[in-house]
Amino acid sequence: MSEAAERLAEVQGLIADAAQRAQREVGEICLIAVSKTHDAPAIRPLIAAGQRHFGENRVQEAAAKWPELRAETPDIVLHLIGQLQSNKAEEAVALFDAIHSVDRSSLVQALAKVCAKAGRRPQLFVQVNIGDEEQKGGCAVADLPALLAEAKAAGLEIAGLMAIPPADVEPAPFFALLDELAERHGLPLRSMGMSGDYETAVMLGATHVRVGTALFGARG
Ligand SMILES: *Cc1c(COP(=O)(O)O)cnc(C)c1O
Repeated sequence: MSEAAERLAEVQGLIADAAQRAQREVGEICLIAVSKTHDAPAIRPLIAAGQRHFGENRVQEAAAKWPELRAETPDIVLHLIGQLQSNKAEEAVALFDAIHSVDRSSLVQALAKVCAKAGRRPQLFVQVNIGDEEQKGGCAVADLPALLAEAKAAGLEIAGLMAIPPADVEPAPFFALLDELAERHGLPLRSMGMSGDYETAVMLGATHVRVGTALFGARG
């Protein structure tokens, strides 16, 4: 087994254990391998080991490396997990199958326009600033109902919520809150959990975990 295949098997095993403890089906949980900063030669071994969902945080970086990798493996599913500027919405919609960072009115309007124009419907998550932190991306918890209503009015289907809990504090209450907000709004998907806390996130309802370091090693 390659080192990448070993890391992948370990993460998949821990996800399966956490799902079992929570009496969830492991098939409900999508592992997104966060490949930001890693180049194609670092990514190929994970693809060879069977990984198909990948996450990037910058449109430009993804546009530079994924067309070639996708030509080699057409069933790759690409997730944008970083902040999106409205003027890059068109490029993002062309490149990504899912966007986890819908967080404001102007972006909802830009996405509605470019999705209609391109005839594409990427899976969309509203990012919630779940700890109500200053300086953090995401829609304020209090503004979520209005943003969801606006997306609906604009013809955008929102599939779920995404959050990055505050650093250096116990993440579980924030995962539980995101799960509750998604439930309240009838949204089926929850994108939460990274290398340090994805097992907790799975136990608390994550449908998508975004794991970089545990699969690729530390970023340079
Ligand atoms: C980088 C990143 C991750 C992955 O973080 P790791 O700790 O390396 O697993 C997950 N989500 C987002 C939004 C990120 O930017």
